[in-house]
This record gives sequence, C-alpha cells and structure tokens, in this order.
Amino acid sequence: MKLGAHQSIAGGLHLAPERARRIDLACFQMFTKAPQSWQEPDLTDAQIQEFRRTCARCGYDRLEMAVHASYLVNPCSANETTREKALQALIADARRCDALDIAYLVFHPGSPGKHEQEEGLKRVAEAIRHTLAASERVCLLIENTAGSGRGIGHSFEQIAEMIDQTGAHRRIGVCFDTAHAFAAGYPLHTVKDAALVFAELDRIIGYERLKWMHLNDSRTGMGSRVDRHARIGEGQIGTALFKWLVNAPFAKGICATLETPLEKNETYEKDVLRLRKLKPAIKRP
Ligand SMILES: [Zn+2]
Ligand SMILES: [Zn+2]
Repeated sequence: MKLGAHQSIAGGLHLAPERARRIDLACFQMFTKAPQSWQEPDLTDAQIQEFRRTCARCGYDRLEMAVHASYLVNPCSANETTREKALQALIADARRCDALDIAYLVFHPGSPGKHEQEEGLKRVAEAIRHTLAASERVCLLIENTAGSGRGIGHSFEQIAEMIDQTGAHRRIGVCFDTAHAFAAGYPLHTVKDAALVFAELDRIIGYERLKWMHLNDSRTGMGSRVDRHARIGEGQIGTALFKWLVNAPFAKGICATLETPLEKNETYEKDVLRLRKLKPAIKRP
C-alpha cells in the first residue's frame, strides 16, 4: 500500500505535489478548485506546465495522484438544474485531470432526494457515461458513502449496479473510504470481520476495480450513517484494521490517503509516519 494524504492547493495547484514531497508521501489527493464553489477555473498552459514539471521533479507518477470532486456535486439529484450543474462540474474536473495528467477523479454518488434509490443509481451511471465521453484518460472512482439521509452508494451492491449500468467501462473504479463503510454498517473494527467485508467487496465489485482508498477512523459508530472522520486509532474503528490493511496482500500497490482532521497549520507528516510504522521493516540480509 502506498501511503499518502489529502494536500492543500492554497497558493497554486503545483504546491500540492510540492507539499506532499516535503513530508515524503507516496501519493496524494487534492482538489482542483475550492470544493464548496461552483466556479470552474480554466487552467492556463503555464499552470498546467508548472504542475506537470513539479510532479516530475517530486517523482509523482499519474497513478499516484487523485482529484476529489467538489462536495456540491450531486449527479443523481431529482432537481434537473442541480443535476445538470453536477454533470458540468464533473466534466470540468475530468478534463482538468486529463490536462494535469492525474489518473483518478473521486466523487460521491450523491442523493436522489424524492426519487427511488434505483433511479438515483441510473442517473449516476448516466453522469459517468457522459463524463467519460467528454474526457480521454481519467478514471472515475465512485466513493462509497456513509449513506446519510437518502444518499446512495453505501453498499457494495449499489456500487456494482452503477458500474454495471455504464457497461462496466474500463475507466471506472472504486475509492473505498473506511470511515464511510463503517458508518454505513460494515464491521471493520475487528480483523476477522474486516477480512469478510473485503472478501465481499471482491465478490460483488472485484478487487480489480479498487483503485484508491481513504484511510479514516470514524467518530461515529458502526451503522450510524453519519460521516465524521477521526484520526487513525482515535475513533471507533481502531488501529487493528489499519495495521491489517497496510499489510494486506490485496492492497499491495494501492494508493491510500488520509482525510483525517488536523490541527491548524499541522501537516500529515506524523500521521503518515505512524501508519508506515504499522508495516514491518524489510529485513535486509
Ligand atoms: Zn473519503
Ligand atoms: Zn467522509
């Protein structure tokens, strides 16, 4: 498992890889714009070149970078205007990923409001198809959710259904968030149960679709359906899961980023170091 964290783009996009390298992250996630805004920035050639140059200098491959879509995006909204806005935002982010040469775009499936969950799944699949048609290389990653309110994407079955409805396109994958899965009711707090949960993920979705992970502990309980991240070991999941995950053969080579709360001006350096120590040191002869 490649360990990293979400990185800020304050001051310029190229500062995300710069900050990530400074604290020795193996991968990172970022936004391409203010996540609470509908503004779609047009990247200039100079910005794109600076970002790509920085990634090359800092040693980040396209597969070690992910963009998280805006939090406002609700691609299955029952409101047509909101839904259309979401689609345009996803397409804009997907194109920025292609321009910046970032392999993955992570997004939340959203909530269908007054519509049935089935209708929501259909609408997400439609948004994915349009976004893929409007982009070239980026792989769209559906993030599992805590399932708060009427939100969809909280079960492996729903995620598999969305993938199926796009014709199982090769540029679709999954980003698995540990806190969301736990809040949605998947028992991850013991290794025995966690192993069964991941075997289920493999059976229903397939490990080949698992492209990224969000490592977060959960302040809220199993099945609470409330999304509140906690620092690793300080929530209700506990350290056992993470110790098992960073060493699990199926997760080998997968990028995993922290999205846990930080103090003001704090970086993820210590948190990532702590995770890295959960891996046994490689003994050299
Ligand atoms: Zn997440
Ligand atoms: Zn979350």
